[in-house]
Amino acid sequence: MVSQTLREEDLEFDASLRPAQFQEFVGQTKIKENLGVYIKAALKRKEPLDHVLLFGPPGLGKTTLAHLISKEMNANIRITSGPVLERAGDLAGLLTNLEEGEILFIDEIHRLSHVVEEYLYPAMEDYILDIMLDKGPNARSVRINLPHFTLIGATTRSGLLTSPLRSRFGIVERLNYYTDEELAQIVGRSAKILGVEIDSSGAHEIARRSRGTPRISNRLLKRVRDFAEVKADGRVTADVADQALKMLEVDEAGLDQMDKRIIKYLLYECDGGPVGLNTLSVAVGEESETLEEIYEPYLIQKGFLKRTPSGRVLTKLAYEHLGVEPSKKQKELW
Ligand code: ADP
Repeated sequence: MVSQTLREEDLEFDASLRPAQFQEFVGQTKIKENLGVYIKAALKRKEPLDHVLLFGPPGLGKTTLAHLISKEMNANIRITSGPVLERAGDLAGLLTNLEEGEILFIDEIHRLSHVVEEYLYPAMEDYILDIMLDKGPNARSVRINLPHFTLIGATTRSGLLTSPLRSRFGIVERLNYYTDEELAQIVGRSAKILGVEIDSSGAHEIARRSRGTPRISNRLLKRVRDFAEVKADGRVTADVADQALKMLEVDEAGLDQMDKRIIKYLLYECDGGPVGLNTLSVAVGEESETLEEIYEPYLIQKGFLKRTPSGRVLTKLAYEHLGVEPSKKQKELW
């Protein structure tokens, strides 16, 4: 299975294929257009860019966009993530070390602790930090003026962001899954960088089965390359890609083992659902957060799964995809 959790090696691989120019960043046309305008305007006014919130499923290019923004703004970027900033002091240390115009990128910003988040509000709004010194009767606060910086927050779960935090972002952009055509372009570009010989049909085959996600396209390309080198003449064609992806248990619709486990559980154990998220999580052995963040959005987008008030249900399309006749109860539910 192509795991979706990131290891050190994956991060390095991501970095090696990361577009270094806006022109190389495929798709997300509207977002690129919007950001282009905001960046130009900020540069013209010689001001830092407004705070930016990027949200969407993992692997769609949020970190890449943050790097591209920093490049276009000619500003340094510092990178951290919500879970790393445990205490207010961690945030204070970062903010007070920023220089005028620099960019602070906070990945997984929905996982910031409440205390840290509260410190972030005045920092974002008025570029000040009120730090409490001592406790009890000696408690006093010290105000620190911060340089004008741009915060770029990335989140896979915009619904988990508190509204005071969300409202402090002037620019909010949602990244969508990529089309097969766009992913094929990304595969072609990555193949060139990696020195893999691939034809257009091979690139399309990988694209079609990448869950609309560039990071997955790149990973599948890497695996297919290995397969092509060992089992074929090194050249990736549609047929070679298909064989390799079958071996990786990535099916025609791009569903991987976990997707199939979810569907099969719903199908065979729950008669198509509805089933609650926690039950599903225990049954398939995956954290409910991961299910909600990674697996469900794609299954929903593909039209295989629906979230209803009483739980998750399989759709008619899922039954068709699996070639299974739905029960009478299920048919009545639709
Ligand atoms: P996120 O931060 O949303 O999880 P990343 O920005 O780390 O995603 O993107 C993962 C990888 O996918 C990057 O290393 C890059 O190689 C590739 N990628 C993402 N978006 C694009 C794009 N629009 N065009 C080309 N490659 C992309």
